[in-house]
Amino acid sequence: MPAARPGIGRPTQIHPIGVDPAFAPAWFRPDAPAHVPLPPPTVATRRETLPGRPLVWAETDTGRVPLISLDTGGASIRYDWPSWARYVLGEQYRTLTRPLYTRLPFHYHRIPGVIRRAVATRLLARQAPEDTRGHTFPGFPIEQGFELLSDVWTRVRGGTTPTDHDVAPAGPEHAVVLTHDIDTAEGFPWVRRTAELELAHGFQSVWHVVGRGDPLDYGVLDWLVEQGCTIGLHGYNHDNTLAFLPADRIRRRLDACRPLVERYDIRCFRSPSWFRSETLFEVLEEYVQVDYSRLDTDRSCPGGIGGCLWTKPFALGGLTHVPTTVPFEDPLYWGRAPEQLTGFWRPKLDWLRACGGGIVVNTHPEPQFSGNARMLHAYDQLLDLLASG
Ligand SMILES: [Zn+2]
Repeated sequence: MPAARPGIGRPTQIHPIGVDPAFAPAWFRPDAPAHVPLPPPTVATRRETLPGRPLVWAETDTGRVPLISLDTGGASIRYDWPSWARYVLGEQYRTLTRPLYTRLPFHYHRIPGVIRRAVATRLLARQAPEDTRGHTFPGFPIEQGFELLSDVWTRVRGGTTPTDHDVAPAGPEHAVVLTHDIDTAEGFPWVRRTAELELAHGFQSVWHVVGRGDPLDYGVLDWLVEQGCTIGLHGYNHDNTLAFLPADRIRRRLDACRPLVERYDIRCFRSPSWFRSETLFEVLEEYVQVDYSRLDTDRSCPGGIGGCLWTKPFALGGLTHVPTTVPFEDPLYWGRAPEQLTGFWRPKLDWLRACGGGIVVNTHPEPQFSGNARMLHAYDQLLDLLASG
């Protein structure tokens, strides 16, 4: 049932892509998925024929469609590149579905954590990378199609950056950013132990907190700031409706978080459960500078699969978007054990380092996620890997 699979099928066209081996970057992995969404005519002008030798092509039902070609006269690309880049980075190809539980007459956090976890597992099971219906987009944990397209286009046309039009990349390459979302009061008892592990490895992390949810432990937050960590905003009350509200209601909610924002000089944001929308980003520009709500390859948001398909920070609208590339806990939803997580993520860490992507990790300190001895041990192993890189 394609309609239940946001981002796949109509009206967006998403195809696997191929590359001439002579033009593949060193970091390209032939064994990992590579797809690109093709924009509709309303988004980007399209060239019907590309002259010369195809370097990158889409594999469609009717055969190969060249996307980038090289001729004696130079390189050509099928779609207007700035529009195409904005279409992908801005995830315009994605369709967001509002889960039914966000329409409950009470806050879903009133459902016991164990049951919430079971419901989330069922929702996210449909988005497992090992998709039984053969849907391979987006690749997880590596989806390299748009990176590949950008890399080849930049090289053959002699550009300096992959997205040097309206979507200029920002920030250092090879950056490691450790982020956490404290969803509930149950997370606070585990914050110090987690941060102390990170500090011992030389990392100062980012902690997103819910502005008007469970009471905050200001003692813990003040301590984090003293250690050089950063506090960010994780929405208003974590009822997962923020992204679906009209602008004025989003504004009212964010205004209610002002005292917290001012207390910690908050400049960054992550939307609860990764729910994001154009309206939310437009309003957010008035409150923060940096957003962590996008993932490069997204099978984590209960609202459907997607992702900006890009692993470096980029500017879009008035925000710097920092894609989360290592949602460390999520393989747990798909049957992995804590002891397997570091091994699961290692190939992606290698790939990110090779292609200059950001290593942006996310975990939650609640006991049902990373607030327990087994997960802390797994996280410690990840930190060893990151510190040695
Ligand atoms: Zn959250």
